[in-house]
Amino acid sequence: MAGIYLHIPFCKQACFYCDFHFSVNQDKKTDLVAALLQEAAMRKNEIEKEQIKTVYFGGGTPSLLSADDIQRIFDTLAEHYDLSVLQEVTLEANPDDLTVAYLRELRHTPVNRLSIGIQSFRDSDLKLMNRAHDAKQALRCVPESVDIGIENISIDLIYGIQGLSLDDWNKNLQTALALPISHLSSYCLTVEPQTKLAKLVSSGELPNVNDDIAASHFEMLIETTEAAGIPWYEVSNFAKPGMESKHNSSYWSGEKYLGLGPGAHSFDGVKRSWNIRSNTAYIQQISKKVLPSETELLTHEEKFNEYLLTALRTRRGLSLEKTKQLCDDLKFSEIKETVRQKEQLALLNIQSDHVILTTKGLLFADAIASELFIIS
Ligand code: SF4
Repeated sequence: MAGIYLHIPFCKQACFYCDFHFSVNQDKKTDLVAALLQEAAMRKNEIEKEQIKTVYFGGGTPSLLSADDIQRIFDTLAEHYDLSVLQEVTLEANPDDLTVAYLRELRHTPVNRLSIGIQSFRDSDLKLMNRAHDAKQALRCVPESVDIGIENISIDLIYGIQGLSLDDWNKNLQTALALPISHLSSYCLTVEPQTKLAKLVSSGELPNVNDDIAASHFEMLIETTEAAGIPWYEVSNFAKPGMESKHNSSYWSGEKYLGLGPGAHSFDGVKRSWNIRSNTAYIQQISKKVLPSETELLTHEEKFNEYLLTALRTRRGLSLEKTKQLCDDLKFSEIKETVRQKEQLALLNIQSDHVILTTKGLLFADAIASELFIIS
């Protein structure tokens, strides 16, 4: 089975921390949707034998699409792909777009899951990050979505924000967990190069993100969600039992996915490809029936390292048996020795053949994985 990701590259305004591909100029929205429909048709043979399990509208801000556009995109997918076993259709949405009228329209589309970019329930944080919504909209959008009948709701929260105390973060978490959500994604604020946030930090207008405070936020996040029955299943993702994101979980288990739209990535089990990160160039090329993408064949080392990285970030953990099958005896002995050292430092546990990071270990998930990588 496979998933389809659609990248909707428009936003009302630029959040200061964001380095995703998007444009705040929405003039090309109609052309972009037309190009997406065309790309969906052009690429139908790439995963023609696969049944599509999940469809994910990501961005950018997919909730800037009208319900009619969403339906039209979906109808085109249904025309070209096997959606007979489709389980999950997620729309990323921002609170300010989720008016009651829009939610009522969405209810009549195949969207059955919302991933809402709340980020914080505090106006000061939202302002600092230049989010387009306010705390009131953040609070009302979840119960209103559920009342209207879209009950599978995930929200995003950011921690580590400058000025967010441990007490403030606790309040944000308690507010989130009191809402009728089934899933939470939570990320540390990261100062990405070339962003407005990076400029504000380098000019001294804002302090940098404090790693120690962010680590305390993360520890509180793990403890609080566990106690609330919405435990972590991936380092940044938390769900009630059975409500894990099917789409994202398939990325982490190496399943195939087709990414449509500018900047979207695809993986067919062997090759990875990505579309050009320019709305204008994407629309132009697609109109000439040219796929504006680049492809790379994954080497054995890259596949191995990717397995280590994604597996270690999940609660299921890294299978030692599978790792052994994927590398030679010498490398496997090195990995076992590194794992033993990390276990002594209480960064991980070994449970029935699986290496699972502790809360302390999760803080260093990527660094630990990179120590186990094959370096060629
Ligand atoms: S709404 Fe999302 S994609 Fe758009 S600028 Fe903000 S974080 Fe980036």
